[in-house]
Parts: sequence; C-alpha cells; structure tokens
Amino acid sequence: MPQPICQSCGMPMQKSEDFGKNADGSASAEYCRYCFQNGKYTVDMTLEQFIEKNVEIAKSKLGMSEADARAMATSVIPNLKRWKKLGN
Ligand SMILES: [Zn+2]
Repeated sequence: MPQPICQSCGMPMQKSEDFGKNADGSASAEYCRYCFQNGKYTVDMTLEQFIEKNVEIAKSKLGMSEADARAMATSVIPNLKRWKKLGN
C-alpha cells in the first residue's frame, strides 16, 4: 500500500497523529492535522497563496533553495485532491 500523503499539502502521513480529524472525531484518511481539523480546513487560502506558504516552509524547515522549493510545490500541490476540484 502506498504511503498516504495529505491531499492538501502533500505531507507524508506516517503516524496516526499525523492525520486530521473529521467532524465526528474520527481520523481523516486524506488530510493531515495541519490542514484539517473538526471536518474543516484549518486554512482557507487560494492555491497560489498555499503554494507561497509551502515554498516558505520548504525553505525554512527543509533548507531547500527557492527554485527547488517552488518547483516541488508547483508540481505536487495542484495535483492534490483539495486543489484539483477547483478546476486548475
Ligand atoms: Zn496537509
């Protein structure tokens, strides 16, 4: 079985606490705890804003270069379920 990744930000979800929570308190199978709590997205952003945020995180937390971080974010994020249905 492939490792699940968050369908909002692309983060790999390994431990049960990495998963978000549905409105009924059960674990979300699709979204991480940073993106999804109580059945709702924790952040309400456009795809462009979300990519910018993730570029900043990749640079500061992962030490990636601006170009690498942007290449990763723009290739991964628009293909995730949360953003696909916007018709991008
Ligand atoms: Zn996420």
